[in-house]
Amino acid sequence: MSLIVQKYGGTSVGNVERIKNVARRVARTFSQGNRVVVVLSAMSGETNRLVAFTQECSEFPISREYDAVISTGEQVTIGLLALVLKEMGYQAKSFLGHQVPIITDSSFGSARIEDIKPGNLMAELDRGVIAVVAGFQGVDADGSITTLGRGGSDTTAVALAAALKADVCEIYTDVEGVYTTDPNICSDARKLERVSYDEMLEMASLGAKVLQTRSVEFARKYGVPVMVRSSFNDATGTLVCKEDKEMEKVVVSGVTYNKDEAKISVLRVPDRPGIAALLFRPLTEAGINVDMIVQNISHDSQTDLTFTVTKTEFKHAMKLVKETAGKIEAEDVIGDPNIAKVSIVGAGMRSHAGVASRMFDVMAREGINIQMISTSEIKISCVVDVKYTELAVRVLHEAFGLGKTDVAEEK
Ligand code: ASP
Ligand code: MG
Repeated sequence: MSLIVQKYGGTSVGNVERIKNVARRVARTFSQGNRVVVVLSAMSGETNRLVAFTQECSEFPISREYDAVISTGEQVTIGLLALVLKEMGYQAKSFLGHQVPIITDSSFGSARIEDIKPGNLMAELDRGVIAVVAGFQGVDADGSITTLGRGGSDTTAVALAAALKADVCEIYTDVEGVYTTDPNICSDARKLERVSYDEMLEMASLGAKVLQTRSVEFARKYGVPVMVRSSFNDATGTLVCKEDKEMEKVVVSGVTYNKDEAKISVLRVPDRPGIAALLFRPLTEAGINVDMIVQNISHDSQTDLTFTVTKTEFKHAMKLVKETAGKIEAEDVIGDPNIAKVSIVGAGMRSHAGVASRMFDVMAREGINIQMISTSEIKISCVVDVKYTELAVRVLHEAFGLGKTDVAEEK
């Protein structure tokens, strides 16, 4: 008898008809002799609608009351699913975050899970009950409702799977798994059978929006196998798991892109100790995340410094950087939101040389100018003009032999 955590995303529970479909899948898993914990998101679009309400009421809504509002979408879906399951003759019970309890810190809007007490759920599972848990929410030490950041139901599911020592955490979504790249850009994109936690982390944070990054960190930390699959058919999905020797043979597993960043360049900054700290401190204090940073070698004790931030934080970041630039007598600050980050990811990069130069060759052949470069052990990212995004993705996907046709030829 296995213990399985199944998470269904917003489109999978988008209306009552779909919730009934989810109930049938859950019932099937239960009837096969498994203990089942279901984690649900809110109906698709619902959390956005709730966020918009809070913005109408307050200029800076993120607070205890914000979480009280935006966590309610999940309360609706878990109640409805439990109702349907009971109607079908199963024992089912809904659980809000505090009823589990899922204990978090008090960072409203992006709280971190600190502890999950599995006792309540275990007792119900032992009685043959299907537990239906609200994703995305928890409770802090004061008893206030908290939320885990957008897309946080994934993290609820993986964290529960870790706490309950589940055999697998299945993430049901509207795609069949993790692809070598966005199938909307490359019709040749192929579903991956397996990816390592590290690869998935790079892909998640680079813009492949299948799993919340934090959920993958959790899965890696506790070794939870995560299966990403579709709730609309029975195709096998993609298993996110520990890296093994087979995975290292594949140099590049995927090509990702992210159009959600903007670039800021500070020109002719005096090149002396402490300048970077001065520039970035106000950004950190404002909670603005800086991604890629490039500093050029200096001429006449002056240098150019370029970095990226998310598009939503771009205006705010520009304002703060201009203030500092004035104080440190930099020549100018230039912002450019029309960029995209295109990346290749693969566990095999650890043991294969020459991947970067091949990537740059491919871009050069297409006349795509690379504005910034950054690398990690298993990833290479290039910032390019946003108008080249699709072209870059396509040519890289082909050059690294990732398509269905490429694999068929090898066989
Ligand atoms: N409903 C939440 C959101 O839209 C959490 C989730 O769907 O994972 O962000
Ligand atoms: Mg999601």
